[in-house]
Amino acid sequence: MSQAAERRSKPNFFDIDFEKAPFIAIWEVTRACDLRCVHCRAEAIPSRDPEELTREQGFALIDELRRFSDTAPPLFVITGGDPLKSPYVYDYIKHADSVGLRVAVTPSATGLLTREAIHKMKENGLTRMAISLDGSTPEIHDNFRRQPGSYAHTIRAIGDAVAEGITVQINTTISRWNVNDIDNLCALMKKFGLTLWAAFFLVPTGRGEESDEISPEQYEEALTKLYNTAKAADFDLKTTAAPHYRRVVLQAQRAAGSSGDSGAYLKPRKEGGSAQDRKTDGPPAWVLRDMKPGGWAKGDAIGRASRGVNDGNGFIFIDHQGFVYPSGFLPLRCGNVKQQSIVDIYRNHPDLKRMRDFSQLKGKCWACDYRDVCGGARSRAYAVTGDYMASEAWCTYVPPALAHVQGVNWLASDMLLADVRQYLKPEDAARFDKS
Ligand code: SF4
Repeated sequence: MSQAAERRSKPNFFDIDFEKAPFIAIWEVTRACDLRCVHCRAEAIPSRDPEELTREQGFALIDELRRFSDTAPPLFVITGGDPLKSPYVYDYIKHADSVGLRVAVTPSATGLLTREAIHKMKENGLTRMAISLDGSTPEIHDNFRRQPGSYAHTIRAIGDAVAEGITVQINTTISRWNVNDIDNLCALMKKFGLTLWAAFFLVPTGRGEESDEISPEQYEEALTKLYNTAKAADFDLKTTAAPHYRRVVLQAQRAAGSSGDSGAYLKPRKEGGSAQDRKTDGPPAWVLRDMKPGGWAKGDAIGRASRGVNDGNGFIFIDHQGFVYPSGFLPLRCGNVKQQSIVDIYRNHPDLKRMRDFSQLKGKCWACDYRDVCGGARSRAYAVTGDYMASEAWCTYVPPALAHVQGVNWLASDMLLADVRQYLKPEDAARFDKS
């Protein structure tokens, strides 16, 4: 194996302890972007902010990210705005690759994303390109992106990346704008040579508004459709801001008789736990079948986390000015990399530590049998209630431990924040208190 290929090879994902290192670290290298998308988390602006991290500060951040782990450093994603609006994007890719990080970039589909730009990113060490496609037709996609011609740029860039031999991830934000287009999108995805379809579920933050969200029932239907597509496709599928997709998958697997597993293999490791703990729990056969040798995704070195990733829990986000957040959808500042190491912030910030402790969850998520594999989106909990430990507001599942309770709407705002011990049988309360 060449040196570069060895550096980019998949780490042992069972070695990642989410208390100590994220699976994925995303850096918003600039907020500048020529698009003005309806949902934009970053509320992107046309020009670069003078307060952006400098090239040297960017290099220092990359070096710190590499320090997270010798054997399983985080996947490094350069995002924006539009990363191609930064004059240093190629330098950052090259430097990250040279220190041994796997690098992905999420460029905006504009005239800047030429075949030459894609080729240059590849030459500098890019492993994967992620590009957004939010509708199966130009009308739906361009309306959402508020840019005529964006759909055409997207389709062309996907073809260029495939031709350059770069693996492609397609990101789709699911919202009221395209919920009726999901069947068409599922069919369209099968036509691309993609590696991963990443479905983002809108969180009402940035330009995304609560009225753009789909209902909890539509969530359930969309997640089931996505699972049915993923099961039969030769690409992988993941969700962002909808961790209950893992619950939907496990329920479907059990119903089909292919798993009696509770999903314990996906548990966030407790502080002090070792890699060996995870191996002895062991993933079930149906996961290993698709996962060997180092992740679910096919086609490149990026793979997938072997446990559930959630805001601040296997995931960290750094904005263009260096401020650190649990994710791009949870606007809670946890420090700044200009003053403090990202390693120190991720491991020790009190909010991030609390976010990783699912025994402190509120509402029905606290008493859920899928708590440790799902836990509900912490970003949506924060957006809807102001409390990042609140229950997921967009999940219809009623945990068995609460099924006997009549006349309670678990998605009502007071119940999202409730201590549900009072509703539980003593043996169930003791069980969830302990785990
Ligand atoms: S109740 Fe909460 S933990 Fe359980 S599946 Fe729904 S979102 Fe996940």
